[in-house]
Amino acid sequence: MSDHGIGRVAVIGAGTMGHGIAQVCALAGHETVLQDVDPEQLERALARIGDTLDKGVRLGKVEAASRDAAWKRLSGTAELSEAVEKTDLVIEAVPEVIELKRRIFREVAEAVSGEVILASNTSSLSVTRIGAGLPAPGRFLGLHFFNPVHIMALVEVVHGDDTDAAVVDRCLAFAKGLGKEPIVVADSPGFASSRLGVVLGLEAMRMVEAGVASPADIDKAMVLGYRHPMGPLRLTDLVGLDVRLGIARYLHETLKSEAFRPPAILERMVAEGRLGTKTGKGFYDWDTER
Ligand code: NAD
Repeated sequence: MSDHGIGRVAVIGAGTMGHGIAQVCALAGHETVLQDVDPEQLERALARIGDTLDKGVRLGKVEAASRDAAWKRLSGTAELSEAVEKTDLVIEAVPEVIELKRRIFREVAEAVSGEVILASNTSSLSVTRIGAGLPAPGRFLGLHFFNPVHIMALVEVVHGDDTDAAVVDRCLAFAKGLGKEPIVVADSPGFASSRLGVVLGLEAMRMVEAGVASPADIDKAMVLGYRHPMGPLRLTDLVGLDVRLGIARYLHETLKSEAFRPPAILERMVAEGRLGTKTGKGFYDWDTER
């Protein structure tokens, strides 16, 4: 255990994010317990971690011995109280529903003893609101990982109004220990990443609407002119137009800025079922694009 004092980690929710978070924690040397209410989901998550680690070994990115050690450090359970036993850090990655998250943290707080840090992987909800009413709000914060977790370097360490500065520091060190590049962000809608990323995407849509340039050329302007790895409209197609619309509405409502008002073209495309790669059509035609 290094100076952040975080050894054992419990990850609650074994979906897209939870399984990835558990994987990077186990690989970085933490005893890791993955928990999910759905035993089949848990099985799938563990199998997925095994596959990704095997692939890492095949590609020469993970040592076979590191994979084997990570696998030994990892376990799964459907019982929340069992998962959080003797843990130093709990990372919650259940669906983005505030009441669900609040209920889980209340149960966790009752089950743990000692100085456990509680973190939510929420991508949009207020960390302060999720943690409100917990017995130790100073040890509650956001740890926002990105998908796919084993590839994306960024982690937003989100401090709520009540989070202790020392807890933020320990989590920064923990994230670095996972090989990530953490940044510190105050609890505000969209944190640092979505707030900027979404506004760029929405402005690009308004430019398509106004006939400034084609989606492909707007994207090219950002890729070649600003060295973005991918243009904002292509990225919107990958994320899903419906997902982007949901976030835009939320940020518009909470930040009260016209920059986040969903453009008519986005509302129309979602109503028509043009959601991006998942439906085959978005700003690009993915049947011909692939
Ligand atoms: P997901 O739907 O893939 O997984 C959620 C998991 O939680 C499921 O396996 C489900 O069975 C489990 N679950 C539901 N209720 C539970 C309970 N009471 N106890 C334990 N497990 C329970 O969701 P996801 O995409 O992994 O998102 C999880 C969180 O991460 C959300 O807050 C989301 O906003 C955030 N997030 C998602 C992404 C992304 O790209 N998917 C990126 C960053 C952050």
